[in-house]
Amino acid sequence: MGVLTGRTALVTGASRGIGRGIAERLGRDGARVAVHYGSNEAAAKEVVAAIETAGGSAFVIGADLVSPGAAQAVWAEFDRHADGLDILVNNAAIGASAPIGGITEEELDAVFTVNVKAPFLLVQQGIGRLRDGGRIINISSGLARTALMPDLMAYAMTKGALDVFSRDLSKVLGPRGITVNSVAPGIIDTDNTAELLYGEEGGWERAASLSALRGVGSPAEVADVVAFLASNGGRWVTGSWVDATGGSLT
Ligand code: NAP
Repeated sequence: MGVLTGRTALVTGASRGIGRGIAERLGRDGARVAVHYGSNEAAAKEVVAAIETAGGSAFVIGADLVSPGAAQAVWAEFDRHADGLDILVNNAAIGASAPIGGITEEELDAVFTVNVKAPFLLVQQGIGRLRDGGRIINISSGLARTALMPDLMAYAMTKGALDVFSRDLSKVLGPRGITVNSVAPGIIDTDNTAELLYGEEGGWERAASLSALRGVGSPAEVADVVAFLASNGGRWVTGSWVDATGGSLT
């Protein structure tokens, strides 16, 4: 029996990268996992298969979070598989990298829609399904607290907004024993950072030198932090911003 046996979790953007790592870890801990994807159904099905092979239980939910009505679509599909939720991980996000003069209004709309509006609407429309004692974990970024990469300003702004959401929502849901926290990774080895890490000679070493631990994080390292917050051991942590940057902000 895992520490999350009997719980149901939904992880957005779980077809790849950090979301996949979180989904697989929560599955290993015994939760039944809704593996949400945006466009990559085959990859999401692979994640379900990996969870099942490890002895767990999972199902897929597809919805493009840019589209109007995405949150309703997610919950409608969720309701076909489960009758309540214990852990919601808002992980799906997109980037927007350009100097301030280079970012278009459409790009700005998209990054705020996926990274801020979607988590807000998923919570607003899903809250009735979240059982007392549940968990909401929002995946933020170290960039919410450093100006190290100003071309990612719009992306960083969305994470700042998400952090305010975590903080204020913790007050709203605290009376029900529901905790709400942000987990902020630093540079993690995913598709998102492939160009930075592997696109140029020395990219990995430069990224690693930013961290006090002199490394680049893995999805599993972020998943371990999320798993703690999701577990009973995390019950007295709420409204927090958990630094999972390997000491990149020190
Ligand atoms: P990733 O490898 O780019 O994966 C992104 C995930 O989000 C995919 O599962 C993707 O689904 C989903 N997604 C993207 N756009 C979507 C949309 N419009 N609708 C629905 N789903 C969508 O990202 P990652 O690097 O693992 O990052 C995961 C989280 O960690 C994000 O919140 C990110 O901001 C945060 N973070 C990452 C790093 C890092 O260094 N990697 C650092 C700090 C914070 P499909 O592929 O199926 O479309």
